[in-house]
Amino acid sequence: MKAAVLREIGQLDICNLAVPVCHIGEVLVKMEACSICKTDTKMYNFGQRDLRLPRVLGHEVAGTVVEAGKGVTGFHPGDRVQVAPGIPCGQCHFCLNGISNMCAHISIIGFHHDGGFAEYLLVPAGGVKHGCLNKIPEDLPLEQAAMAEPIACCINAQKLCKVVPGDVVVIFGAGPVGHLHAQVARQSGAAQVIVIEVDQRRIAFAESGSADIVLDFKKSNIIDVILDRTEGRGADVVLCSCAAPEVPVQGIKMLAKRGRISFFSGLPHGQENIPLEYNQVHYKELQIFGAYGCTSEQNVKAIDLLARRKINVDWLITHRISLDELIEGFKLVDSHDAMGVVVTEFRS
Ligand SMILES: [Zn+2]
Ligand SMILES: [Zn+2]
Repeated sequence: MKAAVLREIGQLDICNLAVPVCHIGEVLVKMEACSICKTDTKMYNFGQRDLRLPRVLGHEVAGTVVEAGKGVTGFHPGDRVQVAPGIPCGQCHFCLNGISNMCAHISIIGFHHDGGFAEYLLVPAGGVKHGCLNKIPEDLPLEQAAMAEPIACCINAQKLCKVVPGDVVVIFGAGPVGHLHAQVARQSGAAQVIVIEVDQRRIAFAESGSADIVLDFKKSNIIDVILDRTEGRGADVVLCSCAAPEVPVQGIKMLAKRGRISFFSGLPHGQENIPLEYNQVHYKELQIFGAYGCTSEQNVKAIDLLARRKINVDWLITHRISLDELIEGFKLVDSHDAMGVVVTEFRS
């Protein structure tokens, strides 16, 4: 089968691999759509904490079951499925407390196991057992279902920082995930969704999104605008959906008392710390939340929101490419010349 293998950082080969053999409890999926995540390009350029090389990347996936291993019930050839990439152990302290994305023994498809940038993807038995395979309703296109995973990550972050009806939610970053965050916040009843961006093309594109207002980080005095729009109160929730180190610093400044901030994106490569205004957190009783990955239940929820057209990703998919064009696809994502880039062509 054709596959894109990341051998070393910066060395991605489109090559031929044997089609994985489907053993007991496993499910073999023929890939139909695999969306490029910013994390994929980060892995390609710099590596990533959970990445094990060599690896077929790709964790935002949808396809069709071609084979179900012995003992698998509920999945049959022809089933259209999305795959939640995180495979939990189901037994550790975190799994037993319902936070399987924090599993002490987690392994992730596209990080520890081969992912979706190949003609076929083998879902390990642990993934099948712990609910990583989700059936896709008939009228939901597979390329849209592939984006369930980033939506699930937004659901996870917003659950942690408790977006509730009436909240003023500020999102830094108008990339594809920023727009997914905006739509998830709307679903939670946010009264105002404010998006902040620096890239002019993304600012223009964001006008058609679901934000109430899109602010230019460079032009507006963003903190004044947020205070103006909230009668001086500040934002209830700030979601950091881009890697710029000044974002959390500004975010903390614009929060209302008891405001919540989500460190959703990692810091840029090579940077580990930011100056944090301790006294802002202290006096305003701010709450800081991390967010990493999502649970399989959150993927189910994301599929449901997509199927009911509560979240629209069609307009966010600006490029459909073949597996042969994967490196160009990575460059498109990094250059911000694209929004969603999805591999939809796997075979020659
Ligand atoms: Zn991702
Ligand atoms: Zn576990």
